[in-house]
Amino acid sequence: MFKSLKGKTAIVTGASKGIGRGIAGRLGEAGLNVLVVSRTIADAEAVAREIGPNASPFAADVSGPEGCAAMAEAALSRYGGIDILCANAGIFPSAKLGEMTPADFDHVIRTNLTSTFLSVSAVLPAMRNSRWGRIVLTSSITGPITGFAGWSHYGASKAGQLGFMRSAALELAPWNITINAVMPGNIWTEGMEGNGDGYVEAMEASIPMKRLGDVRDIANAALFFASEEAGYVTGQTLVVDGGQVLPETLSAMD
Ligand code: NAP
Repeated sequence: MFKSLKGKTAIVTGASKGIGRGIAGRLGEAGLNVLVVSRTIADAEAVAREIGPNASPFAADVSGPEGCAAMAEAALSRYGGIDILCANAGIFPSAKLGEMTPADFDHVIRTNLTSTFLSVSAVLPAMRNSRWGRIVLTSSITGPITGFAGWSHYGASKAGQLGFMRSAALELAPWNITINAVMPGNIWTEGMEGNGDGYVEAMEASIPMKRLGDVRDIANAALFFASEEAGYVTGQTLVVDGGQVLPETLSAMD
């Protein structure tokens, strides 16, 4: 269906676990060189091994400019270019208003939103140089569409990514660089384990497809945005949630 992306180079942030691991694996299967980025090198190494010789690990904290610059330099020196950035790294600690400190708020915004700006900025010179680029953000339904008690900072960061994306799309279009966002619903990942007892069951009950998503559901959407064929799509979102945002009430699914 798609022209081959074989031989192109992708950076996937937050690729040692969950959705990022799924995206990195899917791009690896499609024959891309993949830089597997997370803060924990041992985890990134394990995922790179799982993908094969076209993948390699890199340890970077994408919430700071140094980490993002180092990750871009590593991709350039190992593979000679950067064609695709999947800005996926993110955290979702819970804190209700009244308990949430300014430091909690800043930490989530910096990790999820500032990192989007920093990682995009770090890959831009290489993409501009080749006049070709695909940037895929992992946003969420939480924030842009729905809310969840305890995640006001998280929701702000995920909605913020979309605001960033729309203006960035205008700036990048003349360079043949697209930027789009996948908006996952509830996807089973390691990060979910911190959400407490009963979370998964409650979510499954509110999803029309009655199951959490798989990381491959998100990876397939990311692969579409990364493809040559998606080259005229920019500044757009794709909700991948098993229909979760559709029902007005639980009884709407009866
Ligand atoms: P996860 O299983 O907890 O994995 C998070 C990944 O991000 C790990 O590889 C982690 O590795 C990395 N990471 C965290 N902070 C980082 C930093 N400062 N610098 C570099 N890497 C960092 O999470 P997930 O569920 O796959 O979520 C991935 C993305 O999808 C997030 O942006 C999240 O908001 C979004 N999302 C998830 C869901 C869901 O249902 N799971 C739904 C909607 C949106 P290290 O800790 O080793 O750095």
